[in-house]
Amino acid sequence: MKITISAIKADIGSIGGHTRPSDEVLEAVEKFVRKGMKAAGIIDLYIAYTGDDIHLLMSHKNGLENSKVHKLAWDAFKAGADVAKSQSLYGAGQDLLKDSFSGNVKGMGPGVAELEFEERPNEAFVLFTMDKTEPGAFNYPFYRLFCEPSANTGLIVNPKLASGMKLTVMDVMEGKTAEFSIPQDNFLIAALLMYPGRYVIDSVRNETEPILSATTDKLHNIAGTYVGKDDPAALMRLQKDFPATEEACSVFKVAHYVAGDTRGSHHMPLMPVRIKAAASSNYCMPIVSAVLFSMHEGRFTAHHDAFDTPDWDYFRTKAVKKAEYMREQGFVHPATLVPDELEYSKGYKAMMDSARKKFK
Ligand SMILES: [Mg+2]
Repeated sequence: MKITISAIKADIGSIGGHTRPSDEVLEAVEKFVRKGMKAAGIIDLYIAYTGDDIHLLMSHKNGLENSKVHKLAWDAFKAGADVAKSQSLYGAGQDLLKDSFSGNVKGMGPGVAELEFEERPNEAFVLFTMDKTEPGAFNYPFYRLFCEPSANTGLIVNPKLASGMKLTVMDVMEGKTAEFSIPQDNFLIAALLMYPGRYVIDSVRNETEPILSATTDKLHNIAGTYVGKDDPAALMRLQKDFPATEEACSVFKVAHYVAGDTRGSHHMPLMPVRIKAAASSNYCMPIVSAVLFSMHEGRFTAHHDAFDTPDWDYFRTKAVKKAEYMREQGFVHPATLVPDELEYSKGYKAMMDSARKKFK
């Protein structure tokens, strides 16, 4: 029997700015899903947050883009948004862009990552979640994981990984996807992933099995105007024919610079954090968390926080140091994004219009 795991995420409001959802909002979302999960065919649920984004992870046998599963998540986020509004939380309901549900939540604001597969005897997978950044933040770590033996020896010594994979890239501006072969197309893939604001990793598979699925939603393209950061999440199967847990997680120790942060307008390093971390008030450093799961007959038998061990404190410190170096740069690019990518591009344009008038 095939199992589908669906990760659906949304920012529906947070405390005192873009920090974290309130306990009451989380409780309302969880209660709503638990009440309806049997009727929707959902086997198990895991709920958490990273910064201001709530993540629902659900297992079921309904397949990809199932309307029952998506509707339950949508309605649960609606219920949570009502609580957020009653508490006057900041950005209450901000990721729920449409008034009514129509088939599945793709294009409605929430991000979706799903994998459907025959459950293995020791099924292991990871849920990566990020806040204060964009889907392209996965580009560099996942390129290294799947395409670069210097970052992942498994690409040499694991025959299944060494035999190659298929990587799908999405052009987020055009909404088109293209599939490339690893390792034959590695340089083409690199050329695309070089600009994470435009081209993002959508999924990875081998000949027979899906390995990775990432959210590739771009909120400002859905709504016509920028309404919030399109903070991504990704599901990845681990071990045996897939990346080892430690290979998949260690690519995040780089703390590479990504777009997002304060006012969605800066470059800052991506800091690995524990599960249920609030967004950092240090200029909204982008954050990533990793939750490891074992699954048996669709049940999440246990989960573990991959970035909880003491060594990750060192990489958190490294990220903070890199953030300090970048912030010494003040408002000057590349501390800030290029004009087209600024979340506050209208404000910048107005300033530039005033400035340009003085040129003769
Ligand atoms: Mg967020």
